Amino acid sequence: MLIPRALCGMARSNKKRTAGFGGSPGKRLARIVVKFGGTSVATVERIRQSARHVKREVEAGNEVCVVVSAMSGKTNELVGWVNEASAFHDAREYDAVVASGEQVTAGLMAIVLSEMGIQSRSFAGWQVPIKTDDAHGAARIVDIDGTELDKRMKDGWVPVITGFQGISPHNRITTLGRGGSDTSAVAVAAAVNADRCDIYTDVDGVYTTDPRIVPKAQRLSKISFEEMLEMASLGAKVLMIRSVEMAMAHKVRLLVRSSFDDPDAPQLAPDGTPGVPGTLVCDEDEIMEKQIVSGVTLAKAEAKITLRDVKDNPGVAAAIFGALADEGIIVDMIVQNIADDGATTDITFTVPDSEYDKAIKTLQAAGTDKRIEYARISGSKGGAKISVVGVGMRSHAGVASSMFKALADKGINIQLITTSEIKTSVLIDEQYAELAVRALHTYYGLDRKDA
Ligand code: ADP
Ligand code: ASP
Ligand code: MG
Repeated sequence: MLIPRALCGMARSNKKRTAGFGGSPGKRLARIVVKFGGTSVATVERIRQSARHVKREVEAGNEVCVVVSAMSGKTNELVGWVNEASAFHDAREYDAVVASGEQVTAGLMAIVLSEMGIQSRSFAGWQVPIKTDDAHGAARIVDIDGTELDKRMKDGWVPVITGFQGISPHNRITTLGRGGSDTSAVAVAAAVNADRCDIYTDVDGVYTTDPRIVPKAQRLSKISFEEMLEMASLGAKVLMIRSVEMAMAHKVRLLVRSSFDDPDAPQLAPDGTPGVPGTLVCDEDEIMEKQIVSGVTLAKAEAKITLRDVKDNPGVAAAIFGALADEGIIVDMIVQNIADDGATTDITFTVPDSEYDKAIKTLQAAGTDKRIEYARISGSKGGAKISVVGVGMRSHAGVASSMFKALADKGINIQLITTSEIKTSVLIDEQYAELAVRALHTYYGLDRKDA
């Protein structure tokens, strides 16, 4: 990940600063980037409620910079309009349309803050500027010039930045991919050398699993960057994957918290002591008690494809996965078996359900013109990937086998298995997904004691 100059630079003095708004002189101030997700800015009323969290931080003497998502549902609506206009649209115009949702909420947030007596102004990504590459629809941030933001904050202003977007080397608006406002917030936090990046959402932290699926899920008071990265890549959409990668690379501590909490209530840490509510995503060294399993994740709509009797020559895997990569198809789990004769192999892998038809066609075409030699292709949609994640797995044997046993006890068949140092994933039939998540959550002792 390339985040040059500005994200590494912009070194801010850590000397004591005095606040522009009611800060007590001499008090060590924090610089905080706060991000509000779609449900936190879903209506003008919700924007007002979220703005009260900003006001509280400002009145405590902190410097604050805000990053907003579009109103919930808005980006889907904009994407729908683009597709309705033309299925074969220009990706640059797609970005021009779908980036507009955040412009509305940034302006509204600045208006509401100003009405509360806080000096504020909105910035579209290109006005900061947040520079990206030109991969429209999935652009990566390459540079942020934090000069203006830094100056504004020092002068007591609260800048409000549109999340999810930036500007390409060709001066076109780009978007960062769905859920991209988390990444915008972390990148801005790194660029202005913030002490913390607060991600306000509709849950009050990161849970041991999605609390919508398992009401007995527990909030984690802290989680390591590494575990969060695995959880995000394995289906916990509470944070976008790239935002966690970037936070880890730039050591930006993230606090996931709820915008639905009373902004005026005393700020208490999860253990009830004065502090910040929510889940802190931080370095593993900051976490005293390390769990063997910290969380269980679920990703649905996973399709499985098997190529049978593939001629087993060096370069065959490169040919298969190269053909898929050329079509922009992202492959996830991969399993290869050598047949008894040693001349052929079976290869099974997963792709998102939405890419299944394209993947089958690509491989059929590669078979027809003999770029890949295989006997048969088969597959099915509707799989679910269930994973258990925990840094403790590094030092504890037997997590994978106990996971398989817990699933077997429920009569759930495992179709594929992959492991890494801190996670074990299995592919199962989607209809057993929730049952499997609940069973594993209980099995690893993650259920809330009072539930
Ligand atoms: P926002 O619009 O604020 O960015 P998202 O919908 O992207 O919010 O992410 C918040 C949602 O993530 C929650 O409502 C919750 O259902 C879901 N979620 C999935 N896994 C987890 C988890 N392990 N902990 C907390 N929330 C989770
Ligand atoms: N509004 C964008 C989306 O819905 C970005 C975000 O919410 O993070 O994907
Ligand atoms: Mg989100």
